[in-house]
Amino acid sequence: MSKKCRQRGSWISGALLALLLLAGCQGDGQAETGKLQVVATTGLIGDAVRQVAGDQVELDVLMGPGVDPHLFSASEGDVARLQQADLIFYNGLLLEAQLASVLQRLGERKPAVAVAEQLDPDLLLGVGVDGEFDPHIWFDLTLWQQVVEVIAAQLAAADPANAAVYHANASAYQAELTTLHTYVLERTAALPAQQRILVTAHDAFRYFGRAYGFEVHGLQGTSTVAEAGTADLRALADLIVQREVPAIFVENSVPVRTVEAVQAAVRDRGHQVALGGELYSDALGPPNSAGATYAGLIRHNIDTIAAALQGKESEDGEP
Ligand SMILES: [Zn+2]
Repeated sequence: MSKKCRQRGSWISGALLALLLLAGCQGDGQAETGKLQVVATTGLIGDAVRQVAGDQVELDVLMGPGVDPHLFSASEGDVARLQQADLIFYNGLLLEAQLASVLQRLGERKPAVAVAEQLDPDLLLGVGVDGEFDPHIWFDLTLWQQVVEVIAAQLAAADPANAAVYHANASAYQAELTTLHTYVLERTAALPAQQRILVTAHDAFRYFGRAYGFEVHGLQGTSTVAEAGTADLRALADLIVQREVPAIFVENSVPVRTVEAVQAAVRDRGHQVALGGELYSDALGPPNSAGATYAGLIRHNIDTIAAALQGKESEDGEP
């Protein structure tokens, strides 16, 4: 059955795809390799699965480095990969907006877990639309620790023979994240409160702002789907001038021109704002880069932010 499904996956489309999903074309990957077949949508979630599962599962991550999850749509090959999975992890809260219907259909046939939707809604930030929430939960490390817990519980349920391994790995990784959380707080505390203004391409950092005490502003909203208007650009440029913001930040999953437009608008007002560097926002970086893992991404971001917003003085007090 599944071999036929794989072959069909190379040419199916549209209505046929929907029929195929409804027909219950499911993966038998576990039977082939002896390992649980897990698909994660984003690299961030894939990294959390890797931390918890190690080599106990076959992990397939749909979105590569730098890919914007708001805009990502599944190819037929991606759908075939999802069909082969025993267990799917995705962010949810409409982060993977274009995948929503495919994931929902697959979820009727196999465990497809929206990790962010397992969190207490009281911990989530709204987006001004009833019942919708900001999906960028990974920037609050305490929330990501809960996601790690969710992943461990789901892996243990799907693969009870390795449950103890998953729980032990999750505990160790959560301890590492606690240390990292403290590090972010310490780097933030070294910045004067009035300099904790984070301006980026889109509103990916609201949880970061809440957790660590930054005022955050993105040119685009919580999704990159909607283009920013000229009024948004003007307002952001005015804010940068009025508040004397020294630097604004590029994001790795959003084209640089978004932030360059803000920089140009500030220049038009007779002021200068620096590009403070590139932050990892909605995607991991390439292998061997600072952002190749979630922990590396968090460390890179706070180091970059702290250095750029420090103003003229560097960390050791030298001008
Ligand atoms: Zn985003």
